[in-house]
Amino acid sequence: MTTFLDAADAATLVRRLGVARAIGEVAEHVRHDFLRWPAFEKSARLASHSPVGVIELMPVSDGTQFAFKYVNGHPGNAQQALPTVMACGMLADVRTGFPLLLADLTLATALRTAATSALAARAMARPGARTMALVGNGAQAEFQSLAFHALLGVREIRAYDIDPAATARLVHNLAGVAGLSIVPVGSISAALAGADIVTTVTADKTHATILTPDMIRPGMHLNAVGGDCPGKTELHADILHAARIVVEYAPQSRIEGEIQQWPEAPVQELWEVLSGAAPGRVSADDVTIFDSVGFALEDYAVLRWLHAAARAHGVGRPIALVALPPDPRDLYGWMMASCQEAVAA
Ligand code: NAD
Repeated sequence: MTTFLDAADAATLVRRLGVARAIGEVAEHVRHDFLRWPAFEKSARLASHSPVGVIELMPVSDGTQFAFKYVNGHPGNAQQALPTVMACGMLADVRTGFPLLLADLTLATALRTAATSALAARAMARPGARTMALVGNGAQAEFQSLAFHALLGVREIRAYDIDPAATARLVHNLAGVAGLSIVPVGSISAALAGADIVTTVTADKTHATILTPDMIRPGMHLNAVGGDCPGKTELHADILHAARIVVEYAPQSRIEGEIQQWPEAPVQELWEVLSGAAPGRVSADDVTIFDSVGFALEDYAVLRWLHAAARAHGVGRPIALVALPPDPRDLYGWMMASCQEAVAA
């Protein structure tokens, strides 16, 4: 049987563990899998673009397990009471092809994106960074805040959104987190005041310039999360020219990331920085950028985590997702027998 985890199951699991612990466990899975980088069969994701958004398929395998995620990105969805990003995915056994887990990945995407951002920042930001600007206070915002609080010790988040209601929601949702203060501010410049780390996680299908070169101070670490598809960026191109840039998987990031604005940009991949093969930063004055787009390996890691955590905590349920005839070659006979059983019942 396949384990099935719907959105409510995933939420139950994360609430039961606590969000900070869940992000910590996901971060360990993501780190572990990035350190096994050569073991994976990798490809840039397959994207189907429309004028209002994108739908993507993200496959990856290590020869033992295969994973894929279906995910969309529709910045205007809130007007139709739908999330900008929705996702689901599967983990399968390579030996037989049997689907082990089918799960909502909307919440898991927020966890793994935040966990990956924090892992990158831990290797790239200046040690002792305690203040983060958070520009874009939508669905990802609480998870980014909690990941930086739990994994880096960030204590103050200076939050800005063009929609003040989004910032108010973030303040409300994280009001009870000990040792973390969310400071709402009225502009991007005010958010950046005193910030060691800047996370941009806005949604707009355009070449936005959320950050311009005059806003950047020596030593800042930029965690650029919202620019993740062709024609959708957040940083002024000149910021890239003066920074050390780390990406997840260069062939995909050159199509989708901030570096689509600078095709020949010199970059390191995250696995090199996490393994110590390349430095995250060289000097205290370096401006560093994690040009995050989201890579299938992160979804593989979070699916692996979900599968184990669901079993350990008794969440989710077994389903007969695929036909399993007693005689595997008698699909027809199995169908007719199930039909008779249904009629009899
Ligand atoms: P969301 O729609 O819930 O939130 C986006 C927020 O950005 C909204 O509150 C909106 O008002 C705000 N915003 C838009 N333009 C802004 C601007 N110019 N200045 C300040 N705020 C602005 O979306 P979400 O789920 O939070 O995702 C945010 C972005 O992150 C999306 O673009 C999404 O595609 C991307 N994303 C990337 C990854 C990754 O792995 N890199 C993963 C998930 C989501």
